[in-house]
Amino acid sequence: MLCYTALRMQVSPSTPVADLGYLGARLAKKLKSMGIATAGDLLRHLPFRYEDLSRTAPLAGPSEGPVTVRARIDLIRTRRSAKRRMLLTEATVSDEAGTAKVVWFRQPYIAKTLKPGDRVLLSGKLESTPWGLEMVNPVHEKDGAASPVHTGRLVPVYSVSGELTPKQLRAVLSAALPAADLAEETLPESLREAHGLPGIGAALRAIHFPDSMEAAEAADRRFRFEELFLFQLRGAWARRALELKRAAAVPFDEASTRAFVASLPFALTGDQKRVVWRILQDLGAGRPMQRLVEGDVGSGKTVVAAMAMHACALVGYRSLLMAPTEILAEQHHATISKLLSGTTFRAALRTASRKDDPEGAAVVVGTHALLSKGFAPKHVALVVVDEQHRFGVAQRQELLARLPATADGEIPHFLSMTATPIPRSLALALYGDVDFSALKEMPPGRRPVETFLAGERDRKAMLAHVRAEAAAGRKTFVVCPLIEPSDTLGVKSAEEEVERLRAELPELEIGLLHGKMKAEQKRETMERFAAGPLSLLVSTTVIEVGVDVPTATVMIIEGAERFGMAQLHQLRGRAGRSSLPSRCYLAPSHAAPHAVERLQAFTRAKDCFELSELDLRFRGPGSLFGEDQSGFADLQRFRPGDVALIEETKRAVRELMESDPGLAGHPELKKKISAEAETVHLE
Ligand code: ADP
Ligand code: MG
Repeated sequence: MLCYTALRMQVSPSTPVADLGYLGARLAKKLKSMGIATAGDLLRHLPFRYEDLSRTAPLAGPSEGPVTVRARIDLIRTRRSAKRRMLLTEATVSDEAGTAKVVWFRQPYIAKTLKPGDRVLLSGKLESTPWGLEMVNPVHEKDGAASPVHTGRLVPVYSVSGELTPKQLRAVLSAALPAADLAEETLPESLREAHGLPGIGAALRAIHFPDSMEAAEAADRRFRFEELFLFQLRGAWARRALELKRAAAVPFDEASTRAFVASLPFALTGDQKRVVWRILQDLGAGRPMQRLVEGDVGSGKTVVAAMAMHACALVGYRSLLMAPTEILAEQHHATISKLLSGTTFRAALRTASRKDDPEGAAVVVGTHALLSKGFAPKHVALVVVDEQHRFGVAQRQELLARLPATADGEIPHFLSMTATPIPRSLALALYGDVDFSALKEMPPGRRPVETFLAGERDRKAMLAHVRAEAAAGRKTFVVCPLIEPSDTLGVKSAEEEVERLRAELPELEIGLLHGKMKAEQKRETMERFAAGPLSLLVSTTVIEVGVDVPTATVMIIEGAERFGMAQLHQLRGRAGRSSLPSRCYLAPSHAAPHAVERLQAFTRAKDCFELSELDLRFRGPGSLFGEDQSGFADLQRFRPGDVALIEETKRAVRELMESDPGLAGHPELKKKISAEAETVHLE
């Protein structure tokens, strides 16, 4: 039993944190801001590492590294330091071997909780001074009947937010620990036995307060297994549900397709042909397509979507194309309209500022406005989502749910496109249920964007290059990151950058683009940049995706260390959209060694596929698509190197689905996955 044994009440997973003793009541609000409401939630907040304070030492001499001392308080008092008027708490402590002086800075409450005669555990470094042994700012804990929580053991380290201290979280967690024995078991016993996994109660106890590193690792393995297993089971379940559904069978009309291809302003690349062919086969099969097209920025995904939409239009079906920003939706609308100009089909646009009537349009291009209530066009056989990583799973789900079925029980085909590929290692392992197509071949004549790391010292040379490009009529993008959390749209940093550049490059016309501007203003600025007098455009990340300005040959990314690899790559892709040579400068705002290493790896990587693997290595799966990407939020403990575990869980899922396809014998698993299952097939 850990501390808080005084707690009389039986603690269960549903016990509100406010009922977990004095501390729980005090911290309830802060815990809520972390999404923790009950003892069960607390127990599911797993530590991400341990601090080893299990080594104990007598007060006999200095220690190497942190140790835990069991001692008695002889004297304790708080005073103000003479020099800096800082509150100092000083104590003399002793054990059989000797005595030591202990100092705590700015923690006057300690003198109120510890009295002479108290037995304490102190974890920290024992140092030798001319006045004897000393410990500065040790972690302390009363030495009572219960096992220690903060000292003298493998101490769990949690991520905390909302002004909670790690010590507070640990203390309240220890109060919730008795609920571990009543926690719901998510993994069937047969599965646990077959894979050597501890039960939920033991695993929860061991992951939070392990007796040994081995116990912690065994528990950790169980949670990693569980996470992957449920993730994959959801996929398999969704796949099964999908197999039971039908979608419009769109026959392949060879003559019209050939005519359409011939009308395009360019010849398709080999990859484009191959991917289009796969999609046409999917559309013809009568089963709902679930395909993700991954292709680098500029690889020509739009025309692939246009071909699929054209195929549907030929047989009287409508398609929707959803883009993450208004600028991009407008651009797609213009592009698709042009591509369709030789046909009888028409494209409509639906954004916050323009709402065409979908009637008579074979394609409706739009933003989130496609999700608005009251918009439910009929005969939709295909939904295309561009830059799918920018949409939450819920939004995609909503779009599909709102559409009326084309005929009895038929759901639309689903095609998503992204330049942020899911790393191969993850994709193969986790998305057995989605079909992937890669566009690796670039349209002819493209040159890679030369990429440089540009510190403050390189700024002069960089600006000279911008000046020279401007003289030749070429354009430069400057992207600024969000710096202060309060400045959610990054307006401030972009405005400051404009000031700075106007002083440095007085001869150039410089524009500003940010998310606070009205759509009309944004459009006008984009036009003045794309085909007007502006040589340089300073912007926040609103230009991140899709924007096509062929004369843009320079991309400068300020605060580059703040961006993920995928995002940097997207940004870089705004330059180099023609056969002109282009450059990208990464200007980090400070040169943290890790940031430099990562940015240097970025300058060398050859395409988005390699970059996604790098991102996974440097920042972990959660960071791949940003915070709101619910798809990966479930993979908290996943380690990219976990190949063996992935294979093991994959096999377990397959066996389970074979022996119990409807999960009739596993209601608890069914309950756990089916609530979210429908959303997963949209990944
Ligand atoms: P992305 O994959 O980034 O969405 P786009 O579809 O916007 O790329 O295409 C980028 C540019 O390449 C567009 O200007 C498009 O017209 C052009 N393009 C696409 N496919 C080809 C091709 N096969 N040959 C030449 N140009 C192409
Ligand atoms: Mg695109």
